[in-house]
Amino acid sequence: MTKANLPIVPPAVIGIIGGGQLGRMMAIAARQMGYGIAVLEPGANSPTAQIADVEINAAYDDKVALEELLFVSDVVTYEFENIPNAAIKEVVQAGFGYLPQGHMPLKITQNRLREKDAAVACGYGTAPYADVSTEDKLLDAIEEIGYPSILKTVSGGYDGKGQWRLKSKDDLPEALEVIKNAECILEGFVPFDKEISVIVARSTTGEVKTFPIFENDHANGILHLTTIPADVSDVVADKARALAADMMAKLDLVGTLAIEMFVVGEDILVNEMAPRPHNSGHLTIDACNVSQFEQHIRAICGLPLIDPVIVHPAVMVNLLGQHADYAVKQWQTPAYGDGKMHLYGKDEYIRDRKVGHLTFVNDDAAALKRTVDAFLVDFPE
Ligand code: ATP
Ligand code: MG
Repeated sequence: MTKANLPIVPPAVIGIIGGGQLGRMMAIAARQMGYGIAVLEPGANSPTAQIADVEINAAYDDKVALEELLFVSDVVTYEFENIPNAAIKEVVQAGFGYLPQGHMPLKITQNRLREKDAAVACGYGTAPYADVSTEDKLLDAIEEIGYPSILKTVSGGYDGKGQWRLKSKDDLPEALEVIKNAECILEGFVPFDKEISVIVARSTTGEVKTFPIFENDHANGILHLTTIPADVSDVVADKARALAADMMAKLDLVGTLAIEMFVVGEDILVNEMAPRPHNSGHLTIDACNVSQFEQHIRAICGLPLIDPVIVHPAVMVNLLGQHADYAVKQWQTPAYGDGKMHLYGKDEYIRDRKVGHLTFVNDDAAALKRTVDAFLVDFPE
């Protein structure tokens, strides 16, 4: 940790590991404040590289490239958690640069078992779960957890990939096949009332600020809509925000933590965590007094955090490859023209891959709902 003179202010350079849309939106927020941007991403001209001053194209665990990124940057962050943490640990411990978040959040959130264990260790509930790395363990787990349940790969899954729903014993042969090829966790299916998420930021100074609750609707395991304010009771909202702030402090994390939760009655179960800004927080750009991306930059730079509040009720519609043409066409019409369009500069529109989002804001919540409902009538599947 060589360059820890805080706070880190513009025109310092922020290095980002990962070149996707989260890095891009971090970079846009940082640039607005006057920071320079460097990015490490294997492919050229990534969504983040389009906003960066320095582009390094190499594998995330290429040690020479990581050292170069740390060397040209005053502070380094990551935009997704599936980067090999061993290489990062090594270069940071060798004193090459400043990564205030450290490698520990990656280690926890890259692995669904460690992630759930961390939630339990902090005193919170999750879906019933078990390590099912062997046939015996799977059979025991099914005995205990029962059906319906979900088999998930322990690592590498996102957007519902690497998941198998087990409805009855008819699905057991496939499950036994799956665990031969990948380390898996079995989760009991939670009949939740709602899905919500909470985004919390913690600065290098220890200051913690939590965003208001986001209400999420998924389609085919992929986030479809996020709505604020969330339609949850004050009890649930307070519990969820307190949980997020508490986990952030107990795990001693810096930067941003997003926690996906299931709401069951007045209870909350932790589903997943991500040590970074999150898809459900994109509407903070247009609907809150501070975006999750600006807050993240403030946190890693040791600047004061802003107390986030909702300025306008809003709904974010996630745009996947198959939605982009439709959305851009509608957005050119007066009915939807005031929607805030965010396209990520991806070189192709691939089915089921996130290519952008469109946020509708309206102080009249009923009018907002009418606009979104109408926009979704012909939304492609
Ligand atoms: P993400 O894109 O958020 O990273 P992911 O592929 O890592 O997604 P999860 O968040 O675990 O996966 O699951 C995706 C969705 O599937 C959840 O948002 C939820 O709707 C549903 N789901 C997952 N686990 C459970 C469960 N145990 N009980 C009920 N529904 C579940
Ligand atoms: Mg999830």
